[in-house]
Amino acid sequence: MPETQQVYAFSEGVEDRNQLGNKGANLVTMTRLGMPVPPGFVVSIDAYHRFTGSGELPVAQIDEALTALEAATGRKFGDGLSVSVRSSGPVSMPGMMDTVLNVADRDTLLHSIRDILGSWSSDRAVAYRDLNDIPHDLGTAAIVQAMVMGNSGENSGTGVLFTRDPNTGENELFGEYLANAQGEDIVSGTRTPEPLSGLRKQQPEVYAELHRHVKALEAYFRDMQDIEFTVEDGVLYILQTRSGKRTGQAAVRIAVEMMREGLIRRDEAVMNVSPDQVRTFLHSRIDRPERFTPVVTGLAAAPGAVSGRVVFDNTEARTQSQLGPIILVRPETIPDDIQGIAAAAGVFTARGGLSSHAAIVTRAMGKPCVCGAENADVDPVAGVLRVGDSEFHRGDVLTIDGSSGHVYAGELPLIAGEPTGEMEELLKVADGIRRLGVWANADTPEMVAQAQQFGAEGIGLLRTERQFSTPESLAAIRRFILSDTDSERADALDALRNLQRDDFIAIFRQLDGMSVIVRLLDIPLHEFIPQSMDTGDARSEHRREELAEINPMMGHRGVRLAISFPELYRMQVDAIQEAKAVVDARVSVMIPQVITRQEAIEIKSHINHTGLRIGVMIETVRACMRAGRLAETVDFFSFGTNDLTQAVFSFSREDAEKEFLTTYLDKQILEDNPFEVLDAKGVGRLMDTAVYWARRASPTIQIGVCGEHGGEPRSIAIFHAIGVNYVSCSPYRVPVARLAAAQATIQGDVGLLATTA
Ligand code: ADP
Ligand code: MG
Ligand code: MG
Repeated sequence: MPETQQVYAFSEGVEDRNQLGNKGANLVTMTRLGMPVPPGFVVSIDAYHRFTGSGELPVAQIDEALTALEAATGRKFGDGLSVSVRSSGPVSMPGMMDTVLNVADRDTLLHSIRDILGSWSSDRAVAYRDLNDIPHDLGTAAIVQAMVMGNSGENSGTGVLFTRDPNTGENELFGEYLANAQGEDIVSGTRTPEPLSGLRKQQPEVYAELHRHVKALEAYFRDMQDIEFTVEDGVLYILQTRSGKRTGQAAVRIAVEMMREGLIRRDEAVMNVSPDQVRTFLHSRIDRPERFTPVVTGLAAAPGAVSGRVVFDNTEARTQSQLGPIILVRPETIPDDIQGIAAAAGVFTARGGLSSHAAIVTRAMGKPCVCGAENADVDPVAGVLRVGDSEFHRGDVLTIDGSSGHVYAGELPLIAGEPTGEMEELLKVADGIRRLGVWANADTPEMVAQAQQFGAEGIGLLRTERQFSTPESLAAIRRFILSDTDSERADALDALRNLQRDDFIAIFRQLDGMSVIVRLLDIPLHEFIPQSMDTGDARSEHRREELAEINPMMGHRGVRLAISFPELYRMQVDAIQEAKAVVDARVSVMIPQVITRQEAIEIKSHINHTGLRIGVMIETVRACMRAGRLAETVDFFSFGTNDLTQAVFSFSREDAEKEFLTTYLDKQILEDNPFEVLDAKGVGRLMDTAVYWARRASPTIQIGVCGEHGGEPRSIAIFHAIGVNYVSCSPYRVPVARLAAAQATIQGDVGLLATTA
């Protein structure tokens, strides 16, 4: 009975990655394409598995392949013919496994093959797989290939190149070449290679041939390639090709230019850029940060890098920001700091985690933030930040990098993350493909402007709480909350209406015809009356005690407050109407925290006279289960996936992220943080049910998503599959969402929800 095939010559043309690994399969492909590849054969992954089981190699097949190799090269093994033994796994693990060069006899060849197969289990390779979630049972193939000698004189050499610049994406060969050398000479750093232009000068014909071949490989693999080659006495050989790693900048430019050149289709261009590459593209970053030493490191809370002068409080922030960019430095931030944050270019706090107030607010505003730098001591009263032996005072310059968590002294060189022409083009292509709409959450005219710049189709969530950040409006809302007579409340409401109207006018101007969904007030009252606030009189102190709640987030908030005090929402819709009389705008209003249609009916009775479109936020479990009835009652839905996730898990987000969630993730009891990546199996299925009943009751009802998940790519794929109409996310996430929504469309929704069952 013939033995199963375990050894494959390159020339046989079997391009099976699962048997030959990536490197092996690509060598076979290049051979088939007529590229100058030194001949050789692959000892398969199947052979690896048999070898780990029995310790036996398919020696007969190896001998046979060796004889064929002698025939192909016209040389005898050990006499003119030597080989390399290389590893080749089904997943690329660059540099993690071994290579043996210049093998020239059979007892050594078999040894080397054993060594190479064994290097799959080296500590280094195991650690790399652990880190990158690569299964340990995949195994590797071993490649045996005729050696070509890059070190046989000045007409020889070795090099590595990318078919396009991996930093900028520019369409020029980018690489290095070392004359009279072999591969390890470059890798080991013992000799410094020259840029590729060296080869072009020394051997123009070889360079031209190289250029032709690598461009053909790029066209064949439909992607930028990372290539290893060797020149032996004026003759070119290609030893390896694979898709090249690149920056976000380069990914976008390469995808768009290859699409323009007709090398790839539009959908391929969209798939060739990852949402993460778009994300990093748009944030400013430090130019070659490895040159600098941070003074302290905290949590990378909101991405991007920025330099500015240090300030320690809100008043300073407001005045100093007139003079140039400032970094607000606080022990931690509270809602009262919103103005300081708004004025700052970046925020740094010594305390607080990734879901602290500072982190959430800055992320939504698209401002860099480093928080929870435990080694820093911030004394806002004395106006000093201490880290180790260093002190920073008001006016000193810091650079914070919210993508890495590093904080540096002084002003560092930054590279801005503006959308380029290529980015715009890629996103336009994505727009032509995607089914989901992409809207933005914005609370201020500046955020609306950003949303527009990044291509949002509308404002899906305008939170009115943020309008209470000026001292006047804070004072007025506090007067409203603390008052216990109708006339006091009416006074406070008057003041609030005027302030809100002016805010709306500014926002409506900026909207310039774009639709906006205004969420009516959803105050957890305690946020406006902090425990530390001194109201100054006994009566308000008493009122505050009355209002105190055990669990304010599940207390008298959102629509519940408006059921008790209808005049609150009435004031808001009146402010909207007054603003619309000045600047016309397409406004809908949305009611938060709804659990039953009776709430919607009651609120509608108070605000129906305005003729505004009225929708509900779907963020309680009960609202999901009553979606059909609610859909009969209102014009639209918007899922508030943050609160909904809290409700479905019975997790208080802040407490969960501070305490046990990390343990859950470490122990893989949960795969992902459900506040970052939508939980498909729980929250997703609940949403799917809600959408089903809503559409049954009202087939054309518009359904959106306005939680933070709306800008997260894996969540977007779920929303696409569930069939909502649009996602709404922070302005800086809009480009990411446009791309991710197109990718979800391309990949199709078949089975996505089925797999969650
Ligand atoms: P890695 O997976 O770490 O890139 P390779 O299998 O590509 O390992 O081998 C590393 C280097 O060994 C190659 O870049 C090349 O310089 C050299 N090499 C491998 N095979 C040959 C060969 N047949 N002829 C000449 N040099 C070779
Ligand atoms: Mg290599
Ligand atoms: Mg909510």
